[in-house]
Amino acid sequence: MPEIKKERVEKYFKELASISSPSWEEGKVISYIENYAKKRKLTFKKFQCGKSFNVMISLKGISGKDPLLFAAHTDTVTPCDSIKVMEDSKRFFTDGKSILGGDDKAAVAAFLEAIDVIYKSGEKHGDVDFLFTCAEEVGLCGMKGFDIKNTRAKKAFVFDSDGTVGSATVAAPYQIVMQISLKGKAAHAGMEPEKGISAIYAAAEIINSLPQGRIDSETTTNVGKINGGTANNIVTENLTFELECRSLDKKKLDALTAKIVSVIKSVSSKRKIKAVISTDREYSGYSISQNDSIISHFERAAALCKIKPSYKKSGGGSDTNILNERKIKALNLSVGMSKVHTTDEFIMKSDLHKSAAMVVSLILSN
Ligand SMILES: [Zn+2]
Repeated sequence: MPEIKKERVEKYFKELASISSPSWEEGKVISYIENYAKKRKLTFKKFQCGKSFNVMISLKGISGKDPLLFAAHTDTVTPCDSIKVMEDSKRFFTDGKSILGGDDKAAVAAFLEAIDVIYKSGEKHGDVDFLFTCAEEVGLCGMKGFDIKNTRAKKAFVFDSDGTVGSATVAAPYQIVMQISLKGKAAHAGMEPEKGISAIYAAAEIINSLPQGRIDSETTTNVGKINGGTANNIVTENLTFELECRSLDKKKLDALTAKIVSVIKSVSSKRKIKAVISTDREYSGYSISQNDSIISHFERAAALCKIKPSYKKSGGGSDTNILNERKIKALNLSVGMSKVHTTDEFIMKSDLHKSAAMVVSLILSN
């Protein structure tokens, strides 16, 4: 097992984390990856996606091995206008005014380090594509916009999960978003309220009758947005609200969605309100069996770099959902990012080292 260079992966991380890259504005991180690839004369491809790009570095390998795909995203959540990366002997963190962006630059740094290690080791490996997606944080847009014909891989490792390095997410939920528009009837609230039909009171009754929060160990729902009303002296005519439903089990998700639709229909008909429901499927869930060959591959790799493998189910979606939906078998692996999406975010240096070692091991144990 070739050694990774601890100072080098830390340097990559520090430089990458210092670059501001909110969703759709990943340009500078993309240039960083492009410069890295060009310096080493690696195959680098850029794929337009909305107003940004997905980019890929490919390593040509020997034949007879499965082509592999590694994926990480280049965007971060906000606040990230100006990121001051701080460090002590053990961790990287910020001055508390911004996120750190270990989600997912820890993975980007680990990939660059792994490429250096593999490149210099002379060890034999198969074809490997490293895909860096844009706009993950705003709805997996980069991966959704990536044409998978651009990779030959049928097996992928996404590095975009919190928790200790060695932990693999083997199941993630299906998710749908519903937007509900209610239309009642406006009237002067002081002079003739009886002539009006309030969309606000109808929404209150509907929402109060809906299943809420955690439904069971695999299923959740949440009303997250509401918008309506113009003035206190007008009975509200129009209102919209939005909710999401998630479940690891497609049948449970379908049942929950049907229940919600029936509540909306029955309350709106009772109150003589017009309800329009639009449903968008955000992504499909996935569940990978312990007998799958991707699990044995992962376990061989974990043994090679002496990291203990563990397994978990997630309540959230990632690029992994999109890959599995498109028949590329994909696992989401932890990179050790902690307190993500907050200004308290940090990452242990040891987790950066371990993530890079895990990437190298996955390539060499293929
Ligand atoms: Zn992420």
